Amino acid sequence: MATSAHGRRLDLDGEIDRRLARSGQRWTRGRHAVVDAMKRSVAPMSVTELQAIVGDAVPLSSLYRIISDLVDAKVFIKLEFAEGFARFELDEELAAHHHHLVCHACGVVADLELGDLEVTLDTTAAAIVRTTGFVAQSHRLDFFGLCRNCVSIAS
Ligand SMILES: [Zn+2]
Ligand SMILES: [Zn+2]
Repeated sequence: MATSAHGRRLDLDGEIDRRLARSGQRWTRGRHAVVDAMKRSVAPMSVTELQAIVGDAVPLSSLYRIISDLVDAKVFIKLEFAEGFARFELDEELAAHHHHLVCHACGVVADLELGDLEVTLDTTAAAIVRTTGFVAQSHRLDFFGLCRNCVSIAS
């Protein structure tokens, strides 16, 4: 898959077009605003965080509908980090494969690309096949704990 230097697909807009068309959706101003906000984000966002960015351009009732439509179209995926609310990000095929760092203290969630360490996870997947027969086709791995700021406050 062709990706740019910062990991996004080169034909990201074209692929989003195709996914919307496939689910019978058209671009609207609201959908553009929400997708643009997500494309610029470096971490998964809650509805509240998206609302703060799109502001009055998209009323909250429309925002919920737009997010739900984008999840149906496989443009966004929904993530749960046991925070009591959902977060959303671009579908992994539209962005780059990555993991998450979740701070229990301040609630910050950051994207994490593992680089060469992904090889270790491939090795782990191969070991899982040998020991259990389970063939992993993808994986999710998120880390929960304290971010740098919260560690320094706690110590
Ligand atoms: Zn924190
Ligand atoms: Zn990975």
